Amino acid sequence: PRAHELKSKAAAGLKASKDKDHPPPPPNHVNEPPSSDRKEGAIYQVGKPLGKGGFAICYDGKLIGSSKRYALKIVKAQMASKMEQKFQTELQIHSKMRHPNIVQFHRAFTFENCTYLVLELCSNGSLMDMVKRRKGLTEPEVRFYTVQISGAIKYMHAKGIIHRDLKMGNIFLDKYMNAKIGDFGLAALLLTGKDMQIMRRTTLCGTPNYIAPEILEKGKKGHDHMVDIWSLGIIVYAMLTSKPPFQSSTTDEIYRRARERDYEWPSPDATQKFYSLEAKDLVASMLQDADMRPDPDTIVSHPFFTSGYMPVPSDISSRLRESPPQ
Ligand code: ADP
Repeated sequence: PRAHELKSKAAAGLKASKDKDHPPPPPNHVNEPPSSDRKEGAIYQVGKPLGKGGFAICYDGKLIGSSKRYALKIVKAQMASKMEQKFQTELQIHSKMRHPNIVQFHRAFTFENCTYLVLELCSNGSLMDMVKRRKGLTEPEVRFYTVQISGAIKYMHAKGIIHRDLKMGNIFLDKYMNAKIGDFGLAALLLTGKDMQIMRRTTLCGTPNYIAPEILEKGKKGHDHMVDIWSLGIIVYAMLTSKPPFQSSTTDEIYRRARERDYEWPSPDATQKFYSLEAKDLVASMLQDADMRPDPDTIVSHPFFTSGYMPVPSDISSRLRESPPQ
């Protein structure tokens, strides 16, 4: 029966992982061992798969004896130790964050050779999936999300944390369609030679579209929190047009275009979509050289936010959540 359950669970949503780096499907119930603040331990009922990342798989999980639901992020223990530095950073930084637009970290434990992170559940997938499905958001919707993400960036930066991997695929949506920044795997590592290798490797297996050019400049030691503002500029452009501005078939070409700020706005003739001067100016301001980029407070006081309608949370939750996928 167990094998059967596992098979049907895999079939339910996730392609069976061919990748040996991913954890095997978890059992139907997962035991959190006793700890100082939870002496009896805890049991989670594992529900449907939510998604798969580089090394992790996430499942919907219900805490037995309560109605609380979480995202259970599962990583093979060997992977956690191979990726020790990345994983430790992720755990340490993420667990200290507390903000309405950052995925809340609840706990971490090990069970049957896997490490489990118990995270706030974001049941509406990632911003990337939503934006792709809707082929771009309206300017009022982009105002709403940009304010939320800027708030989270302001909070992280005030705590001395640089996220360094902000992208639409790392921003999740809760049941009310609020944006929540997740995945702190690359946050605030100092760029030593070793970190640089990790960064390049990670960049090679992920999308380079959101990486600020100064991160990749060889030999440059420090880089500051403004890399997150660059990424936000890419996110704002991508929320509006549904594509990142420097999209190209090769990574080198993306970097060249980013260095030269070689991007265009889709023409209204082709797309029937109109982008305001304010929106274009806001994006351009965030894609300047690091020392010229606006901080989060300056971003949200840009005319883009006062030049048109600013939705309230209930507008967003009813409009975006109920709109059927196209
Ligand atoms: P990795 O660190 O390996 O990149 P991610 O953090 O991106 O893993 O998680 C993998 C996938 O799991 C995500 O793409 C997303 O679909 C899903 N996921 C991650 N965190 C949550 C969450 N808090 N709520 C709902 N789904 C999540």
